[in-house]
Amino acid sequence: MSSKTLKPGVVTGEDYIALVDAAKSGGYALPAVNIVGTNSINAVMEAAAKANSDIIIQLSNSGGAFYAGAGMADGFKAKVLGSVAAAQHAHLLAEHYGICVAMHTDHANKALIPWIEALLDEGEKYYEQHGKPLFSSHMLDLSADPIDFNLSECARILERMAKIDMSLEIELGVTGGEEDGIGSEFDEGADNSKLYTQPQDVLMAYNLLDPIGHFSVAASFGNVHGVYKPGNVKLRPEILKNSQSLVRETHDTGKNPLNLVFHGGSGSEKAKITEAVGYGVFKMIIDTDTQFAFSEPIGKFVNENPKAFLYQVDPDDGTPYKKFYDPRKYLRAGELGIVDRLQEACKDLGSTGRSLAKA
Ligand SMILES: [Zn+2]
Repeated sequence: MSSKTLKPGVVTGEDYIALVDAAKSGGYALPAVNIVGTNSINAVMEAAAKANSDIIIQLSNSGGAFYAGAGMADGFKAKVLGSVAAAQHAHLLAEHYGICVAMHTDHANKALIPWIEALLDEGEKYYEQHGKPLFSSHMLDLSADPIDFNLSECARILERMAKIDMSLEIELGVTGGEEDGIGSEFDEGADNSKLYTQPQDVLMAYNLLDPIGHFSVAASFGNVHGVYKPGNVKLRPEILKNSQSLVRETHDTGKNPLNLVFHGGSGSEKAKITEAVGYGVFKMIIDTDTQFAFSEPIGKFVNENPKAFLYQVDPDDGTPYKKFYDPRKYLRAGELGIVDRLQEACKDLGSTGRSLAKA
């Protein structure tokens, strides 16, 4: 087990690589939690501090736009500036929570490459001023495109990212389900082989990208975005093991040369999660479950205090309801829902008590 320690705060470059390596060699993974505003980003940092776990915070393009404000007129600018604002928020505050935070962006398909390139413009400016990038890693999901295009675009973007100490997350094979309204339909009768990444494709990605810079791979092994009826697709973590073996044997590397990522983790069987982590998965995205964890306690609070959401003062007996409708009351309930749910996630992934941060 690694005894390396890191300064608390947002980690990038070599420190980010150390975080990934420590998780893989320590047999645990970090939760990657999608955030949409200050309530969720702060709750995730609070959860990590409570669990003494490092954490990955990520934004989708629409999460970025929401962070900037859903009413901002220029939607593309909102996606970019909101993502930058969230990263700056984390750079300012994360160290004071005493844990390490990796800042990631979520799925970017072909249409969203301009979003990533605009974020890299911002990242390069930030790097010039601060000697580190805004984000630890960006994700390109070109799995719906032909593999040649997928890999050549990933190589082109990684060339640029490597210069500012950034890592790239790529996706091979189609993960089923719906992510941010972008769905890929699947049904039992369909060709399910597409839902499983081929180890040969993973080797091709390694051959091309490893000489350029640091990268990670989201491979499909039957995982599905969002929560669906179980049983539609079978999780087969041995696909991850086979990919690791093929790269290891071809390049004579150590154990688990690939940095693997588990997409669509919400609602997965715990035993399959543990098995996947054993094959070098260092990150598992937990989006859908934390959305519900935030909303459920707010719904409960409103149901328990319905009049406070109809009247400022009770029309019958004059009771003032300010202390219930103060948004901090119910938003805090939502934050604590995230904090609780992530304690369970850190436990499932084995990251509890494993933070590398030392002030
Ligand atoms: Zn994915």
